[in-house]
Amino acid sequence: MSIKGFAAFGPGEKLKPFSYEPGLLGPHEVEVEVTHCGICRSDVHLIDNDWGITKYPALCGHEIVGKVSAAGPEVKGLSKGDRVGIGWQAGSCLACEWCVGGQENRCAEQAATCLGRPGGFAEAVRVDGRFAFPLPKGLESHHAAPLLCGGITVYTPLRAHAHPWSRVGVIGIGGLGHFALQFARAFGCEVTAFSSSKDKEGEAAGLGAHRFVPVSDAAAMKKAAGSLDLLVSTVHVDLDWEAWMRVLRPGGVLALVGATDGKLNIAADTLLLGKKAVLGSTIGTRSAIREMLEFAARHAIKARAEVVPMAQVNAAVDRVRQGKARYRMVLENR
Ligand SMILES: [Zn+2]
Ligand SMILES: [Zn+2]
Repeated sequence: MSIKGFAAFGPGEKLKPFSYEPGLLGPHEVEVEVTHCGICRSDVHLIDNDWGITKYPALCGHEIVGKVSAAGPEVKGLSKGDRVGIGWQAGSCLACEWCVGGQENRCAEQAATCLGRPGGFAEAVRVDGRFAFPLPKGLESHHAAPLLCGGITVYTPLRAHAHPWSRVGVIGIGGLGHFALQFARAFGCEVTAFSSSKDKEGEAAGLGAHRFVPVSDAAAMKKAAGSLDLLVSTVHVDLDWEAWMRVLRPGGVLALVGATDGKLNIAADTLLLGKKAVLGSTIGTRSAIREMLEFAARHAIKARAEVVPMAQVNAAVDRVRQGKARYRMVLENR
């Protein structure tokens, strides 16, 4: 029985209907009937072959929510009909030091849900059942889907470095930033939103920011110097990173979760004398994803998403490509 979806057949091309034969269900695999799938910026990078690793036809989509429709004989803890979420990672070796230590997202043999295999812009998807996560009841599917990649991307560095007493700044209020503001506020932090769009002040407050700083306002930026313990940068452009390091207090951390093409020009002395650190982070572990989903349900943390029918995938991908989504796009099988 074939699975129908929408795939790109060349870089930047419009997605077209595509179907494939999934073959026999593996012993650890689940088949999930997709009800919702978010569109992440990484999907657009894959469609456009920005990273030079795309294999066509490319059936993308890795922020998936759906119902288990079949489970292999070795699958534990999931049954037919269960509502689950699936993110960027679809499998790992589960035997190396990282996997055994619960850090599967560091595994050298990890599989990505929609890289070299068909993902979630489809009626169904198959993954290792150990990478499909039961969703808490209180979390609606269209609010949950973007948490599976966008949400965990910011949750991971916040979980590691933000404490209730921390002063946290989020650079960029978009698909990632809007989650970071909500999580940081729910963690009990003092939250500052930095944006180049002055008109986002009200929205930032609604997402949990105590303070809004327009980055084009030199006086406001100067006033922010030395004020934060943690800065989470969600933007995809190169910034004056040395200037951003000055916004941190001694011991502060700059966490990068948005990919940029350039290099970080930060003086060694800035780190040495300021006792500051820069780190990068992608996605998160399986246990962190489960924890995040529970936490999001408990604190009503939701994706602000535009929900459109799966058939409108091309228009939705274009909105993400052009940075117009407020703040995530979610496809729905109706
Ligand atoms: Zn491994
Ligand atoms: Zn993603």
